[in-house]
Order: sequence, then structure tokens, then C-alpha cells
Amino acid sequence: MSEQEFLDSKNNELHYELTENPLLHALLDVVREAVLIIDLETKVVFTNRTAKEIFAFPTTSHPGLRLTDITRNKEIYHCFTVCLKEKSAFEKKIRLHTNSGERSLDLKVESITTNDPTLGVKVIGVVGTFFDKTKLEALEQTRREFFANLSHELRTPLTSIETYAETLLSGALYDQENNVKFLQIIAKHAARMRNLAQDISDLAAIESGTVPMRPQALRIAQVMREVAELLKDAIAAKNIQLYISIPEDLFVFADPKGFEQILFNLVQNAVNFNRPSGSISVTAEASGAYQVIKVKDTGIGIEAKQIPRIFERLYRVDESRSRKEGGTGLGLAIVKHLVQAQGGAIFVESAPNEGSTFSVSLPATTKNH
Ligand code: ADP
Repeated sequence: MSEQEFLDSKNNELHYELTENPLLHALLDVVREAVLIIDLETKVVFTNRTAKEIFAFPTTSHPGLRLTDITRNKEIYHCFTVCLKEKSAFEKKIRLHTNSGERSLDLKVESITTNDPTLGVKVIGVVGTFFDKTKLEALEQTRREFFANLSHELRTPLTSIETYAETLLSGALYDQENNVKFLQIIAKHAARMRNLAQDISDLAAIESGTVPMRPQALRIAQVMREVAELLKDAIAAKNIQLYISIPEDLFVFADPKGFEQILFNLVQNAVNFNRPSGSISVTAEASGAYQVIKVKDTGIGIEAKQIPRIFERLYRVDESRSRKEGGTGLGLAIVKHLVQAQGGAIFVESAPNEGSTFSVSLPATTKNH
């Protein structure tokens, strides 16, 4: 048998094995990595389910498909062809543009060889596995940004505390006109840091799932009255009208502390980002298996493109305004996690300079649950 005949027959065996072996198919379909196997002519002889999700496969079946038909990525092509030629196994980080955005993949290629007593070791194909690191990298990026922002958040009040304490120590303590004012500034910044520390530990606890959610039937109107009481000074300071219109017989099935915090954070934002003498209306209504609670304000509103970002940790549309109101930039991240942890969802509708409506849906229940 000539070398070419030998390779052709081995190639046919490879095709046969890969297309007809149900166990192999099932096995490769369950792995998380995308698997692509090509033969000597760079024809794709096998792809698993994940590979079909990542690469641009034609919708109809297409037997003679080549590697270049499913991806135009030069690096991927290069790795497979080098591996075919040099029998070498290697790894490469690939950035792949797909219809669903850019993906970061770790590609490992390895040649498939066969041994013939006369011809020696011959390559008959290449198997490539792609490990998708896109989500992991995005998480890592979020974590890095969070720590960078956090250190910025801490430095700002600390610098003020240090500066005013030094000013007092170097004589201003006896300056009757300013000493109290300086101490008030120190106290204000210390309070900011305390709020931040509290929000961070709340968020970390909620995210890690270590705070047990103890859901029970809660009368929405009652919890809202308690929240209004907690915020009454802030509401009065801005001369804001708060309208509560919640039927007494509406109950959510939620954790008492968590539910109060959701309402508190939303109403507090509706106060902080409102205009002076504006208004807030809080309503609730049943919708199927859920209660939908809406907090509507007449405030500064949020541009559409900012809306997805406001739930990110430490993200603020206007940093100085949020800081002036004593905000930490963590309130909505906490709300989102609390709502999700209780099987609910949150939506925002907003128009700049007109106001915002935050809607939270939570599982409904009856009092005698
Ligand atoms: P904080 O209120 O402490 O700044 P949040 O996480 O509660 O942080 O909110 C993030 C950002 O979302 C705010 O800084 C603000 O820019 C925007 N935002 C939240 N609620 C409202 C609202 N009711 N109206 C306008 N902007 C809002």
C-alpha cells in the first residue's frame, strides 16, 4: 500500500469512528469545552454541541465543511494547520469575534496519529478543544474594577478626615469660628465610611448566600409605613410629598429585613435624586403569582444607556451628587441581589428630567400562608 493509500484508509477510519460512534458523540457533547476535529484536508470531521454554539455553522447539514467555512479566525486556522504539519501539541489564547460578541478562548490542539510498521508515525488529523474564558475574565475584570473603585471611595473621606484633623491640631482647635464646623465635616466623612463599610458587608453577605433568607407573609403597606417613618426627616428636608397607595390585603412572601431594605433603598434614592418639592408615589398591585411594587419619583431621571449600569457595584451616574446625598453607590446592587435571592425581578423606566419608576416584583402570598 502506498503512503497516500494508507493515509486515505486511515482518514476513512477516522471519519467512520467519529460519525458513527454514538458513545463518543454523547461523551463529547457533555464536556463544557468546544471540540473540533479536522482531517488531513482540514475538513471538519467532528464537532460537539458547544462548538456548534460558538462557531458559525450553516443551518443545514453540510458534509464537506472545512475549518475555514466555520471560522475566519486566522489564529485558529494557523494552530490547526501547524499541528497537522508538525505533530506538535500546543496551547494558544484566542480572541474570537462571534455574533454574540467577542469571546476569549483557550485553544489546545493535539495531533491524531497512527502508527504503521513500515511508514512509522503518521498524522491523520487534529483535535482542538476550546475552553471559553469569557465569563471568567469578565468577572475578574469586575472584581479588579470594584477594588480600584473601593480604594478611591475610601481615600476621599479619609483624606478629608486627615486634613481637617491636622488643621485642628495645628491651631484651628482654638479658632472658635471654625472648630465646630471642621469637626462636623470629620463626623460627616466618618459616617460616609461607616455607611460604605455597612453596605459592603451587606452586599458580600447577600452575594455569598450566608445571610439566610427567612421568607414569610409581609403586609406591603405596613412595611412601607415603617420605611416612610425611617425616611421622614430626609423627605421633609426636601419638602417632598410622599403618596402611598397600597391595598392593605397585599402580602409578599419575603424576608422581613431584606424586604424592608429593598423598599428603603428605593425610596431613599427617590428622595436623593428628586428635585426640591418633588413627589414620590409608592403603589402595589397583584400580578399573577407576584406583587408588583412601584416607586415613582419626579427626579432627575436616568438616561436609557445608563440604566443597565446603575445596578453595578459603586456605579453612579453623577458621582458628586450621589456623594453629596451620602450615597455609597452600592444601594441598587444590594436591592438587585436581595430581589433575585427572593425569586423576584426589578425593572426601571426613566426619562431624564422627568423622573424614574423602579418596579419590583416579588412572590405573592396570602396572610395565612
Ligand atoms: P447611590 O444612591 O448610593 O449613589 P445606588 O446604587 O443606590 O447608589 O444608585 C446608583 C446610581 O443610580 C445613583 O448614583 C444614581 O446615579 C442612579 N439612581 C438611582 N436611583 C435613582 C433615581 N431614583 N433617580 C435617578 N437616578 C437614580
